[in-house]
Amino acid sequence: MEHFGCRAARADGEAVSERLRAAGLSERQPSVADVVVVNTCSVTAEADRAARAFIRRAHRLNPEASIVVTGCYAQRAPEVLAGLAGVAAVVGNSHKALAPEIVLGLLGRAEQHADHELINIQAAQAASAPPQVVWADDRFAHSFIEAAQVVPVAQTRPNLKIQEGCGNRCTFCVIPQTRGSSKSLPGAAVLRQVEGFVAAGGNELVLSGINLGRWGRDFSDTGGVPPRTLAGLVRKIFERTPLPRLRLSSIEPMDWDDELIGLMAEFGGRRMARHAHLPLQSGSDAVLRRMHRRYRPWHYAEKVAALLRGCGPELTLGADVMVGFPGESDAEFEETVALVRALPFGYLHLFPFSPRPGTPGWALHAERPVPAEAVAGRMAMLRGLAAEKTLAHRRRFIGRELEAITLHTPAEMEARGRTVALTENFLPAELEGRVEANRLVRLRVSGVNAEGTLEAKASENSF
Ligand code: SF4
Repeated sequence: MEHFGCRAARADGEAVSERLRAAGLSERQPSVADVVVVNTCSVTAEADRAARAFIRRAHRLNPEASIVVTGCYAQRAPEVLAGLAGVAAVVGNSHKALAPEIVLGLLGRAEQHADHELINIQAAQAASAPPQVVWADDRFAHSFIEAAQVVPVAQTRPNLKIQEGCGNRCTFCVIPQTRGSSKSLPGAAVLRQVEGFVAAGGNELVLSGINLGRWGRDFSDTGGVPPRTLAGLVRKIFERTPLPRLRLSSIEPMDWDDELIGLMAEFGGRRMARHAHLPLQSGSDAVLRRMHRRYRPWHYAEKVAALLRGCGPELTLGADVMVGFPGESDAEFEETVALVRALPFGYLHLFPFSPRPGTPGWALHAERPVPAEAVAGRMAMLRGLAAEKTLAHRRRFIGRELEAITLHTPAEMEARGRTVALTENFLPAELEGRVEANRLVRLRVSGVNAEGTLEAKASENSF
């Protein structure tokens, strides 16, 4: 399987892989595999190009293989992908949960999994050949693929994806089309996963989703069993399981409500990582309005202030910022720069705007595109500012102690007697001495190296 795209896409791909492994399949190189599964992204035109190039290469290398394309590009433009040579099935996110069985069907092994609708679909097809190639619609009835039990093996701190899709309509974003509206993993299933993870020796788990802050809002008021909010779920996890550390991935600014910020204040630095990623996109009110974002720059600043009051300056604050949204003037870009300067960001993820077909941003771009040179200049400017802020944030911890978890250390670094770690507040660290992965340690930070990594020693009584 080849993966493209974000963490959520990777989690989906891993879930499909695990289910195929559980069905007795093993992974091989695309050049010798019977089926090549390509898990695509469609967040930019470049992501689309990379997926098409990979599919063409895979078919050239191994013309006998059946290629199955899934993920966001498969949902957005299934007919384009179905037309590529070697593609036997295109499985959009709407049918992602059926992807393992579609693969098994191509291998002639679907009968082993006869408990599924797939069999009915295949029976219907038998009467009306040719076989179905495209599995995608806008009902998203099979969009949530729950991971098999998450364990701390390949990844020390895995993601548990508990929410899929998004009901917002940001004008630049293709996700509502490619993943449908918000759907949540029921609370009981989340608790089972967390308990299983701890039982397997896990220490840090990352809760993730496409729009994580919306977790539980799709449960019906009458039928859903509480909790029905992310804050309620986090509290239940702390009450019901001994999970040592929980990290939240990206949460939209307005979903940081008082209850969630209160949890960060109560558990931050102990069972909850003092790390908050709030997508910003722009610091300009006018641009945020054109983007149909649901907050204004001052709302964003207020949420950050509340988080800092709750967690203290140890909080590592991260954001996504988009550059060159249609019509972004120099003055509007300067508003973004001013807001970024004013807030204590520990890191920024910067993206140039990429028009996606089928979004309002596509038409806005046709009317008021920002010239490529202006986008490049603004990206370079923000990159420099982001690097300065990251370094300043990390240097503040020199001479201080922080909690951390050890990760899998590359062999070359292990040979130098060093261990890779990540601090509770999301700072990369290099530890003197060799420590196995997945140990909770206390570090004393001695410096920040040229790559921006903390240099550290395990402090006494660390283990
Ligand atoms: S909140 Fe906006 S940017 Fe994020 S997934 Fe939903 S529509 Fe896309």
